[in-house]
Amino acid sequence: MKKIALHWQILLGMVLGVLVGLIMTQFVGGSEIVRDWVKPFGTIFINSLKLIAVPLILGSLIKGVSDLKDISKLSKMGGRTIGLYLLTTVVAVSIGLLLVNVIKPGNSITPETRQELVQNYSGDTDKYKEEAFKQKEGGPLQALVDIVPDNIFGAASENKNMLQVIFFAIFFGVGLILIPEKKSKPVKKFIDGFNEVILKMIDLIMLAAPFGVFALLAALVVESPSIDLFKALIWYAFTVILGLALMITFYNGMVLLIAKKSPSFFFKGISPAQLLAFSTSSSAATLPVTMERVTEHLGVDEEVSSFVLPIGATINMDGTSLYQAVAAVFIAQAFGMDLSLGVQLGIIVTATLASIGSAAVPGAGMVMLVIVLAQAGIPEAGLALIFAIDRPLDMCRTTVNVTGDATVSMIVAKSLDKLHDPEVKNWDDNYKI
Ligand code: ASP
Repeated sequence: MKKIALHWQILLGMVLGVLVGLIMTQFVGGSEIVRDWVKPFGTIFINSLKLIAVPLILGSLIKGVSDLKDISKLSKMGGRTIGLYLLTTVVAVSIGLLLVNVIKPGNSITPETRQELVQNYSGDTDKYKEEAFKQKEGGPLQALVDIVPDNIFGAASENKNMLQVIFFAIFFGVGLILIPEKKSKPVKKFIDGFNEVILKMIDLIMLAAPFGVFALLAALVVESPSIDLFKALIWYAFTVILGLALMITFYNGMVLLIAKKSPSFFFKGISPAQLLAFSTSSSAATLPVTMERVTEHLGVDEEVSSFVLPIGATINMDGTSLYQAVAAVFIAQAFGMDLSLGVQLGIIVTATLASIGSAAVPGAGMVMLVIVLAQAGIPEAGLALIFAIDRPLDMCRTTVNVTGDATVSMIVAKSLDKLHDPEVKNWDDNYKI
């Protein structure tokens, strides 16, 4: 019997998860059953993906950098990667600002709804504010200082220190290039084998993906707030989602015009990673799958993907920056504030930086939004307005974040002549044990 392609299996898992979640909320005690007996499997699935992230970055980035054989190639690739990441982020923030100014979703919020939302969620937003201000406490160069770990085992022991692990891996890779080949060979051989093992582990985890997303979505549905609050925020959600859809179109245009690949090729290749990003709301948890799809199915040489993608998962968050711009102006509108052009241009800068600083985990974009609001002089209490609908929007923006990384990796690969035709293979060949 022909097996169903992986992206359909995942989609089916998602739909069934939502349906089961909806049905269970109708029964007394149904939500508890999902929370106690279904949700843990979703958590196990996300944990197993996160478990792979640090070894994957270490293995593939060291291999990628040392395969370059030459430091000048590294700086060329680094320059293009960072340049493209910045460009796509600024495009995203600009699209967000344009849409929120045209649609003006904040004007549809009545003072009563505003009151109700602020009252309901002000407690929840306090912890976000605290977290954001902790991040802001250091001096202007703190972000730079934070990239360099003082202990690699300390850095590797927490997923939120991804940039530090990336720094170590690049540094190690550079060291490997610079020592005599006789000495570097055995190390490289070991790293090669290590990488293969990690990639196989990802294949194995992906076998469980349809079940994992089922559990995640069923739990999300039973835990989501009442639909009435969603309704009040419908225009705001529409603005964010429209902006994200435009970003996806923008990526397709880039893939088509620069990488010369069709949108259907792109989607077929990347869709399992997109679906996983949607279900987990975490670019970091999705990274192993993004790497595998981009390399095996989009034809990006491992040398490029192993460098561009881990960095992208940590610093390139186009969806997040777009959302932060829309959210900031929406809150200002709801509070009846008029934002000058200067303030809005400031938002382009702060939302770009805030998205770079956001961790690749659920809800991180909202923490950093606090900083965008503070900089623009918008009341932080406004965070409570958008709290109810943050999770579904997080799912959508994470999908865009991951798609953006994949797009940039294709463009960088194309520019370095490292974009190949992937071997035509059966969809599920990869997932055979
Ligand atoms: N969840 C997003 C990500 O992992 C970050 C955010 O909250 O916007 O990419």
